[in-house]
Amino acid sequence: MKYDVLIIGGGPVGNYLASLLSGKLDVAVVERKGSFGGKACTGIIGAEMYEALGLPEKAVLNAYNGAYFISKGSVFEISRKNPQAYLVDRKILERELAKRAIRRGAEYYLATNFLRFKNGKALVQHLDSQFEIEAEVYVGADGVNSAVARNIGTKTEGEVLKGWELEVLGNFKRERVEVWVNKDINPEFFFWVAPINEEEARVGTFGSIDALAKFLKLRRIKGGNILEFKSGAVILGWRKPWVKGNIALLGDAALQIKPTTAGGIVFGAYCARVLAKAILTGNLQMYEKGCSWVREQISFGLRVRKVFKDLSQEKIEEIFGILSTEEARRIIEERAEFDDHVRTIKALLKSPKLLAKLIRVAPWILRALI
Ligand SMILES: Cc1cc2nc3c(=O)[nH]c(=O)nc-3n(C[C@H](O)[C@H](O)[C@H](O)COP(=O)(O)OP(=O)(O)OC[C@H]3O[C@@H](n4cnc5c(N)ncnc54)[C@H](O)[C@@H]3O)c2cc1C
Repeated sequence: MKYDVLIIGGGPVGNYLASLLSGKLDVAVVERKGSFGGKACTGIIGAEMYEALGLPEKAVLNAYNGAYFISKGSVFEISRKNPQAYLVDRKILERELAKRAIRRGAEYYLATNFLRFKNGKALVQHLDSQFEIEAEVYVGADGVNSAVARNIGTKTEGEVLKGWELEVLGNFKRERVEVWVNKDINPEFFFWVAPINEEEARVGTFGSIDALAKFLKLRRIKGGNILEFKSGAVILGWRKPWVKGNIALLGDAALQIKPTTAGGIVFGAYCARVLAKAILTGNLQMYEKGCSWVREQISFGLRVRKVFKDLSQEKIEEIFGILSTEEARRIIEERAEFDDHVRTIKALLKSPKLLAKLIRVAPWILRALI
């Protein structure tokens, strides 16, 4: 059988695309694993986008309406009335999206590995047998190490970061995420503590395992209290092109990842919507253009990432001093958007008071961002 669309990779983004297209077109998904979930991923997703994208409520484990920002020398709290972010269960998220797609007619090939394209068809392997699947359009939603991207000869320019994700037992404030910035321990990234409930949380960072070990000590989380330990990787940067002939890349496979937090589910799902429209209208070429919001966020996020890497801990302490002022907290509480860092940072820089303070601390930051 020839499908209209073959999606390679049944992660959250591939399954979301399958749910959007099935019922309208003949869709198949090949997934290497024999079941959904299992990837190292904390599962923090902006609440507004989660709802706007229609992602499944059933996967939500917890909701955060605020955060503690903790540096070496200070702490400040941001609190808002409504939930700003959700913590989701990846397995349930992926399964629910796959269920939606299957109910609408999509066919899933689990435990099936995409090998390469051969004469315009996808060569795949299930157990010890190889066979070909043919489609009008192929979508590589097979993650950062995308075999589809390699096959079509894309160019990757980015920073590879190893990530760590633990589930631990301890005492936590359920409705607050903790964001720890301590470059003496980890020059690469911040640490996060995302409570599942009052006694369990997901803790993680990107960087070295040694940095993670030091953080656990600082946060007083005992090594013996770890319930789950996972590692993974992200690439922050660009992979181009996103479309070659009748093959498109989507999600992590296209590096649709937020450079500030390494979150990829919202950008991937946003681009899935654009791609679904491009496929349905028979105009794949409008896909990249239609994702301009995501491309702008990535481009700005990469500049913010560079600023973060260039900042010393002393400067970070001074910036924490600025961000913990009443004026900054008011702007963040009123205007910040979890998934729109361009808007959030621009709102902060529009305040003459904050701008003057920032110019005193590190004028080069402005040059880097504007
Ligand atoms: C430590 C860590 C924490 C993170 N925390 C968050 C977070 O809190 N929030 C957030 O939004 N993002 C987070 N991310 C990023 C997030 O995990 C990714 O952006 C997200 O998984 C991207 O989804 P995807 O469907 O594009 O790719 P993936 O989730 O990577 O899914 C790709 C799928 O393709 C399959 N596949 C791969 N190769 C083949 C093949 N050859 N044939 C068939 N199938 C194949 C894989 O098995 C997989 O199921 C985190 C990442 C890490 C490493």
